[in-house]
Amino acid sequence: MTYQVNSRGYYGNFGGAYIPEMLYQNVEELRQNYLEIMESPGFQQEFQQLLKDYVGRPSPLYKAERLSRKYDTNVFLKREDLNHTGAHKVNNTLGQILLAKRLGKQKIIAETGAGQHGVATATVCALMGMDCIVYMGSIDIERQKPNVERMKLLGAKVVPATSGSQTLKDATNEAMRHWINNPTDTHYIIGSVVGPHPYPDMVARFQSVISEEMRWQLEEQTGDELPTCIIACVGGGSNAMGAFYHYLNDPSVQLIGAEAAGHGISSGESAATTILGKAGVLHGSKTLLMQTPDGQVVEPYSISAGLDYPGIGPVHAHLHETRRAVFHPITDKEAMEAGLQLCKLEGIIPAIESAHALAVLEKITFDKDAVVVINLSGRGDKDLATYITYCG
Ligand SMILES: *Cc1c(COP(=O)(O)O)cnc(C)c1O
Repeated sequence: MTYQVNSRGYYGNFGGAYIPEMLYQNVEELRQNYLEIMESPGFQQEFQQLLKDYVGRPSPLYKAERLSRKYDTNVFLKREDLNHTGAHKVNNTLGQILLAKRLGKQKIIAETGAGQHGVATATVCALMGMDCIVYMGSIDIERQKPNVERMKLLGAKVVPATSGSQTLKDATNEAMRHWINNPTDTHYIIGSVVGPHPYPDMVARFQSVISEEMRWQLEEQTGDELPTCIIACVGGGSNAMGAFYHYLNDPSVQLIGAEAAGHGISSGESAATTILGKAGVLHGSKTLLMQTPDGQVVEPYSISAGLDYPGIGPVHAHLHETRRAVFHPITDKEAMEAGLQLCKLEGIIPAIESAHALAVLEKITFDKDAVVVINLSGRGDKDLATYITYCG
């Protein structure tokens, strides 16, 4: 069983590149060049140096003693929250901008929903001195003011998407349109393991630094590179894929995804794609997505903006179908309680996205000597207002 993408861009029944004819050239240029560029010594040297000195890697693997005692097991937190910009997303935006430079591109476009990917993209554009346009639904611009201000401070132009529901999918459509019209000088930085091949594979490879570090950090701290289990939250699935990547072929390691169940999976307000989704095409790939019987994409809901996505990366659809990974739905309330608990027990305020992964500790009873790694994808500073409102 292989969990890697095949030469046609598929993970089992999912993936591919379902794109308009007009985008073919751009995507094909990327497909033909990404592996060679990523594997070249010059690229690796620059990427590794910046991961170290700019992002602050390796991110610590921290044994959470008080949390471990509470659940009578051994819980380790992979601290992606300590990266520059406060989450894992910068691993990918940094990789892609270095690749774009080598493809001779001068301009970067991106789409963003909550603004986190927009900020991570604007950050690396400033670092590299490249023009940056971020498309964002006009409703999201209203909802996510602080991130819009951050992007502007970093020198990016934020362009509102005013069509349709004025949220993420409309921003994605605008970004695609821009790319079609500017094929030669522009690279489109997609923010998760979604989109047409080769994006899911490329983003997974950039994020795989997470599990690459985990292996030696676990060996150092427990004497074994293999944990019992790895837990990560799943929006599109990039932090989860980064945390799973180097363990896909170690069948003893359980891989667990935490999906946003919002107000509950049968409430009509959730983003629990593996449970509610059906196969369809979203953002250029065949995957599981939440849709109406006639194939309209359902507007997702989660208290955490980063998990508020109607689909899931094709690799996760495949991991779900093959049962290599198991996905748990976590409600808003369960996530908030798990997040608040981490504040009190460990002095760490997690992103509400990451709190969904922490909440899995309430769902599964682990052995006393199990080693459970939770990928703490981001920090909760951005979520302060939501925490305060929740606490009343
Ligand atoms: C964006 C985001 C996520 C969700 O994206 P994935 O691609 O599923 O990782 C999770 N956590 C944080 C902190 C985020 O910013």
